[in-house]
Amino acid sequence: MKIGVIAIQGNIEEHIHALNQAMKKEQIDGTVIPVKHRGIIPKCDGIVIPGGESTTLCRLMKKEGIDTEIKNAAQKNRPIFATCAGLIAIAKKGGKEAEQTKQELLGIIDLEVERNAFGRQRESFETEVRINFLETPYNAIFIRAPKITRVGKDVETIATLNNNIIAAKQKNTIALSFHPELTNDTRIHQHYIKLIKK
Ligand code: GLN
Repeated sequence: MKIGVIAIQGNIEEHIHALNQAMKKEQIDGTVIPVKHRGIIPKCDGIVIPGGESTTLCRLMKKEGIDTEIKNAAQKNRPIFATCAGLIAIAKKGGKEAEQTKQELLGIIDLEVERNAFGRQRESFETEVRINFLETPYNAIFIRAPKITRVGKDVETIATLNNNIIAAKQKNTIALSFHPELTNDTRIHQHYIKLIKK
């Protein structure tokens, strides 16, 4: 199994570590490859898009031609896992902030987002959330997190927090507002790996 982690910005090492741990736990042989340039994604079975700053992320992915490769992979149903700024990057529509910054989103998951919906850096927090494919709560870390303000009809809401949608899934694409790579709990990465294996 080959998983590409977009290595432009954000928690790249943390995702690579979590994926390696998750593969070990699931007893799956595989490699995790940092993706900085075009040409790698077509060879990957899955793609992870970390958080960071979505304006920069989108701009640099476009500059590298990675954006088109991700869109093609999504069309082929390759499992894609996006967190925080990654979620914004793959959304169909951004809110006011995205419009102001003229962000070009990939539009591979039918949802609308609002950036920084839970406040700025100082308002970062962690809390237990229920995720529909996990049996027990997950301690989720939110850092200038977006929320999902609308989901399309083919999109499944997989977690909410105080009536805000914070995680969604459409076919083989999983998008989260929070940062599972910043905890030692690899259950979400394991779930994603099993999705690739299917
Ligand atoms: N607030 C960032 C954005 O809008 C996302 C933050 C993050 O990825 N931790 O791009």
